[in-house]
Amino acid sequence: MTAQLLSGKTFADAIKSEVKDEIAGLNYTPGLTVVRVGEDPASAVYVGSKVRTADELGIRSGHIHLDESVNQDDLIRQVDELNGSDEVDGILVQLPLPKHIDESVVLERIDPRKDVDGFHPVNAGRLMQGQASLVPCTPAGVIEILKRSSIAIAGANAVVVGRSNIVGKPMAMLLLNENATVTVCHSKTRDLTNVCSQADILVAAIGRAGFIRGEHIKEGAAVIDVGINSVSDRGALPTFFEGEELEKRLAAIEKRGATLVGDVSWKDAMERAGYFTPVPGGVGLLTVAMLMKNTVRASRMRRQE
Ligand code: NAP
Repeated sequence: MTAQLLSGKTFADAIKSEVKDEIAGLNYTPGLTVVRVGEDPASAVYVGSKVRTADELGIRSGHIHLDESVNQDDLIRQVDELNGSDEVDGILVQLPLPKHIDESVVLERIDPRKDVDGFHPVNAGRLMQGQASLVPCTPAGVIEILKRSSIAIAGANAVVVGRSNIVGKPMAMLLLNENATVTVCHSKTRDLTNVCSQADILVAAIGRAGFIRGEHIKEGAAVIDVGINSVSDRGALPTFFEGEELEKRLAAIEKRGATLVGDVSWKDAMERAGYFTPVPGGVGLLTVAMLMKNTVRASRMRRQE
């Protein structure tokens, strides 16, 4: 079997276009403000992409960049100010924060109605109870991929590997709310291979390059690779890639010093899965689109109260 590759770009473009149309029909402009602390280069890239996409779709974007040395109380005051601003529908505090700041204190300070990352305990609780909530963007994007690819979720055996608050747990809840039979695996799971090999839908959110191999994958399964791992060791690549893809990845290491690899072995997924989301070019591309969708949703929900 050769798996069908599910291109994140196609879905992300469709979602962004829908969000743009929805915004054009509103009689107000939704606002999203991103708060970034310090100089983490990856955070700067992510925030740049979020602000640019917001602007493209007609969302009023704000970018507050605070010095690495900002203290927690000042950051909280900044969040309070955004909570109180009627022009701001969505607040996103870019993670990670510097070590002297307690992330959970800051994230819990965000008004749950403006929590477009969906990390606030109130939104996590609402998701758990199947109530309307703002849902973390990456797992919400996975559901979009499955639905838009007409992959049946109801009644399917879904296995999620990883139980983080930002990916694994909300992913499991979303699949459960869509009537899948869900198993959540983690580092203490006994016989992971056997559990994964029963999955019609297998979601890998682990953070270990190519960890999921052929023996984990049921023939014909939908394999969703959330992992993003930077690999610079040329020698490791033939374990995950073959043929043209291997050549491409070797060239990437030659040129840029590293290539991005998911949690699933590409060549094994291509051989055994029915559907497979590539890394890069899969789930990751939907995260920003879902943030825009959440911002419009937050703007509507706040105005309907
Ligand atoms: P995380 O907080 O480090 O969680 C990793 C999870 O994997 C944990 O629950 C851990 O189990 C589990 N795990 C680790 N080793 C395992 C093993 N050998 N067998 C089974 N389970 C194992 O990571 P995360 O934030 O959820 O992110 C996961 C991956 O997704 C990362 O590669 C990250 O870069 C990527 N990611 C991508 C996006 C995107 O937009 N595409 C967004 C967020 C994250 P324990 O709980 O037992 O430790």
